[in-house]
Amino acid sequence: MQIIDQIYIDGAFVTPHGDEFFELFDPSTETVIGRVRLADAHDARAAIAAAKRAFPAFSRTGKHERIDMLKRMYEAVAAKEDALFDAIVDEYGAPVSRARWMARHASSVLLDAANVLESYAFERRAGTARVVMQPLGVAGLITPWNSDAGFICGKLAAALAAGCTAVIKPSEMSAMQTRVVTEALHAAGLPPGVFNIVTGRGETVGAEISAHPDVAKLSFTGSTAVGKTILRTAADTLKRVTLELGGKSPMIVLDDANVDEAVLLALDAGFMNSGQACIAGTRILVPQTRLREFEEKITRAVAEFRSGDPRDPRTRIGPMVSRKQWERVQRYIRIGIDEGARLIAGGEGRPEGVNAGWFVRPTIFSDVRNDMTIAREEIFGPVLSIIAYEDTEDAIAIANDTPYGLQAYVCSADAARAEAVASRIEAGRVLVNTLAHEPAAPFGGFKQSGIGREYGTYGLEAFLEPKSLLGVS
Ligand code: NAD
Repeated sequence: MQIIDQIYIDGAFVTPHGDEFFELFDPSTETVIGRVRLADAHDARAAIAAAKRAFPAFSRTGKHERIDMLKRMYEAVAAKEDALFDAIVDEYGAPVSRARWMARHASSVLLDAANVLESYAFERRAGTARVVMQPLGVAGLITPWNSDAGFICGKLAAALAAGCTAVIKPSEMSAMQTRVVTEALHAAGLPPGVFNIVTGRGETVGAEISAHPDVAKLSFTGSTAVGKTILRTAADTLKRVTLELGGKSPMIVLDDANVDEAVLLALDAGFMNSGQACIAGTRILVPQTRLREFEEKITRAVAEFRSGDPRDPRTRIGPMVSRKQWERVQRYIRIGIDEGARLIAGGEGRPEGVNAGWFVRPTIFSDVRNDMTIAREEIFGPVLSIIAYEDTEDAIAIANDTPYGLQAYVCSADAARAEAVASRIEAGRVLVNTLAHEPAAPFGGFKQSGIGREYGTYGLEAFLEPKSLLGVS
């Protein structure tokens, strides 16, 4: 049993003012494996005050000094990769291959930010003016549970690269990962107050950060509903806001696609992170003429997708993070059945032979219409919908008929044709015949999937404000 009873403010581990304890579960067994003492609004204010004190000196550091800090942070987090991996498997239930990727990602984003900074020009000319990119101030960084360590490090890397100081509010459900990352970042030896980490509830610590007049910038990753609340709260002080929210991403299989390859891509895109991924390709758009073939092949392939013990290397889908999340996914499977979609794999309840843990059967519906609840709402679990389309125009119309616009996938044997379709999709990222990630490219959503971009130069500039100097040389 891990007891986590400290937060990180002003360069030191301190006991929070908040005294509520929150239980941490192993989602594979449903047993309590830890307790975390939560910070409250008082702690959030102390963290914001520390970040505010640190800002004047930190914002004047040179870019090479900050590159050096980011590299030290990278080394420190990379050195904790195994401890982070264990925490991710224990507390989140990610299958080992995914957990290893996540543990590496947490350090690699720090190095990515250092690389962006190397070639970034903070000054440029605009006509007769000199334009200086200036750090915004104290940044509030709020993360979800589905990739806590990666988001802490990624958001912090961009904020610090820009010269902002930060207050981080990680997910309260990810306190073990947060502890490993905090200890690593502390070891990197940054000046006190430059970053502060306060684990607490969203409604208290998150709300305080969103409202506080001394916070200039918010970067939030989480649900669209909470994102809207944050945007409304931030409006009072006109904070700059980056929101990375939910998705209902289409996987468009064009009629010339190799169906065997398309099936594997669709399963990997749909079930990534055990289905708990904002970018999961959850709407599979298949030409009517090839529907039966696609159904047959995906039904056969999904039988290989084991949902079970995340520590078993053969497992592709781990448990849902919490009972609440498990119940939510079950509710959507029931809604799909009730609305008349046809189950071709999986269904309600746990996988066969599994009696404990928040495991879900990998589930695929066919005969889904795009106006059904399961095609419109983000389920955040391993539940996929196959939607048949008539022709390419129809496929594009269905793909874009969603309030979301985070990511899309196009699968085709003809690269030029796939690119033409990709150009018409309303999404922040479109992946053609690949699931590869590109850390230099902007990431973020169209429509209700968010505002702004992370990663690369775009992500760095989200923490900067241009200032024009006129009458100077
Ligand atoms: P969530 O919105 O419930 O919580 C996210 C964070 O916000 C948590 O730290 C939570 O404590 C905090 N929070 C809750 N209420 C708040 C409030 N009123 N004010 C301030 N902060 C508050 O999301 P979640 O359940 O942790 O994560 C799943 C969601 O995140 C999904 O919708 C998923 O699509 C989304 N997500 C998006 C991306 C992306 O990059 N677009 C990536 C991962 C996850």
